[in-house]
Amino acid sequence: ATSFNDAIVAARSLNAYTIETPDAALVAADAADAARASGDLKPLSGIPLGIKDLFATEGVDSTSGSNILRGFKPPYESTVSGKLKAAGAGMLGKLNMDEFAMGSSNETSAYGPVISPWKRNDGGNAALTPGGSSGGSAAAVSAGLAPGVTGTDTGGSIRQPAAFTGISGIKPTYGRCSRWGIVAFASSLDQAGPMARTVRDCAILLENMTGFDPKDATSLDLPVPQWEAGLSSDLKGKKVGIPKEYRIDGVPDEINAIWDRGIEWLKDAGAEVVPISLPHTKYALPTYYIIAPAEASSNLARYDGVRYGLRETPEGGNLDAMYSATREAGFGAEVKRRIMIGTYVLSAGFYDAYFNKAQKVRTLIKRDFRDAFRQCDLILTPTAPSAAFGLNEKMSDPLAMYLNDVFAVPASLAGLPAMSVPGGLDGQGLPLGLHLIGNELDEQGVLNAGLAIE
Ligand code: GLN
Repeated sequence: ATSFNDAIVAARSLNAYTIETPDAALVAADAADAARASGDLKPLSGIPLGIKDLFATEGVDSTSGSNILRGFKPPYESTVSGKLKAAGAGMLGKLNMDEFAMGSSNETSAYGPVISPWKRNDGGNAALTPGGSSGGSAAAVSAGLAPGVTGTDTGGSIRQPAAFTGISGIKPTYGRCSRWGIVAFASSLDQAGPMARTVRDCAILLENMTGFDPKDATSLDLPVPQWEAGLSSDLKGKKVGIPKEYRIDGVPDEINAIWDRGIEWLKDAGAEVVPISLPHTKYALPTYYIIAPAEASSNLARYDGVRYGLRETPEGGNLDAMYSATREAGFGAEVKRRIMIGTYVLSAGFYDAYFNKAQKVRTLIKRDFRDAFRQCDLILTPTAPSAAFGLNEKMSDPLAMYLNDVFAVPASLAGLPAMSVPGGLDGQGLPLGLHLIGNELDEQGVLNAGLAIE
């Protein structure tokens, strides 16, 4: 009994869940037993899943990792989590995350950081971040606290934490998963997706998360492909592009070595590997860090102390005083930084120089990919320019934190499907991810190449 309790204490010390809902998981397990007895099992009958805290879950706290939404229990369910539940899944709880999904280390959460279950093999015991913003999701799967979870990816938040924790995660084509009921960060970039231990599990979960939703104006009106049935690690006839612009200075040799190994694995699976160029890659990170904060500053205007969550009413203050006291108390430092960047780049005097320019560069980045996919079917790169870093290592240096997204954001800006799969361990024994980018709607190609690597 002691060791069981110890295991629970150890599991909770990762801080992966913001709230646990074991009863919901048990109800689904009982329903699965009944379904098995009556012969109508559903695709996910009884499977317990963790749900990232920015999915609205009916009657259960949904706070997007923010104090401004603390205690908010939505009276409705997000389309994606609703689909998983309709497929028979149960909810284990809500998963910790960077506040409003802004971050790459899960350290901006109002609930405190998530600790990665991984440690460096240097004999030390230094706590590492699981990456972010889906850090609770990644840690939960990696530590065996959920067989599968939902994440969201605006600029890498599924892929980078998957890479840091040695699991798989896929962001589908923009529009595949409904954004309805997902707390908005940057609406033109936000996409939900699954994270799990295997590529097959990702395919199964993705099938049960996607589909047209009239409640999301950007939802794609397309049938859901049978990705699991379509899985094949035979890549004969496929061309994999290797973009030379992703060989950037300062990336550890070990990451390039894993990339080279990934190239060999794809060749072994029958693929032909071709060099490609994505010439505007170096502008992707600054473009993302203009567009994402701009959209965020607009989306976050709704947290005004009137409609949701926190309300601060200073003595004798008017409505404006309530707005600012609420936002001052409710938002963390990174969220405030994003609001300031966003309102600045959208302001009348700077709109053309920043936001408008960034939109134009985004089009060029999309064109790079369109041109590249005339020469190849898939693109292989590393997922992140480093392995998991230590807690507090980058929190005082936002630019260093942003740089960690350098390989992830181009596919986000282009709305393309992209996946991280485990590529191997570095010299410290930490996982490194390989990153597959597919053409629009080609999740199958991405999953199949992921399977070949896995
Ligand atoms: N790390 C990136 C950011 O902070 C991406 C986050 C995300 O994909 N939600 O904006």
